[in-house]
Amino acid sequence: MILIEGAAKRFGSHAVLDGINLRVEPGEVVSILGASGSGKSTLIRCINGLEKLDAGTISVDGHRVDDSRQLQLARRCSGTVFQQFNLYPHMTALQNITLAPIEVLKVPRIQADDEARKLLASVGLSERADAYPSQLSGGQRQRVGICRALAMKPRYLLLDEVTSALDPEMTAEVLAILAKLAAEGTTMLFVTHEIEFARQISSRVVFLDQGRLLADLPAVQFFAANGGLAQPRIAQFLS
Ligand code: ADP
Ligand code: MG
Repeated sequence: MILIEGAAKRFGSHAVLDGINLRVEPGEVVSILGASGSGKSTLIRCINGLEKLDAGTISVDGHRVDDSRQLQLARRCSGTVFQQFNLYPHMTALQNITLAPIEVLKVPRIQADDEARKLLASVGLSERADAYPSQLSGGQRQRVGICRALAMKPRYLLLDEVTSALDPEMTAEVLAILAKLAAEGTTMLFVTHEIEFARQISSRVVFLDQGRLLADLPAVQFFAANGGLAQPRIAQFLS
């Protein structure tokens, strides 16, 4: 599981994460909601070790992210997809997907290519394996980005606003892929502005407000009670 205990992070005098406790168990689909600037991306970046906590701990399947010797093991457990696609422009879709399995996991190229083609087929991109990122639409690039994360066979998929740079049609095609992954039992922790989508696929909802965790509830309960009527910030956000 992903276990976050007392996580705190400041930028200067600004407390961006303030005593976050969160646990994500295998099989869960947890959405992180909250206004812009509430600390959602920072939380994701702390989980994969791109940012360091000032206090508290995060471990992924028991590997401490704050211990440099354990960080690589922790990173192997999770795959991250960002808002910006971050594909290598000089590599084809297939090469983007196979790079890490070949370099890091030492998967033989033939096997890595075969697995990447299966992933591309699963997101409806069988025909685009040899296309370069510049030849793909935003939605197609993001689907390649998801394949690239999945190629490392992560136990946890972290997604940070993967549709926010996309137009509605492309958003729909990417959300359909995420819904399929959720239905297949992929463990996901995802930040989204798509509240209706979060309602449909999440098992649990976490709400961040100014670096604090204001709610951590089963999705049904969160949406039924507008995040708990005792929380005007959440009711306001949802409306
Ligand atoms: P969210 O993803 O919820 O919009 P972020 O985690 O990106 O929020 O940012 C939370 C706060 O931290 C914001 O006020 C943002 O300006 C600030 N912040 C994020 N990254 C940095 C950084 N590297 N340096 C300084 N401030 C930062
Ligand atoms: Mg963000």
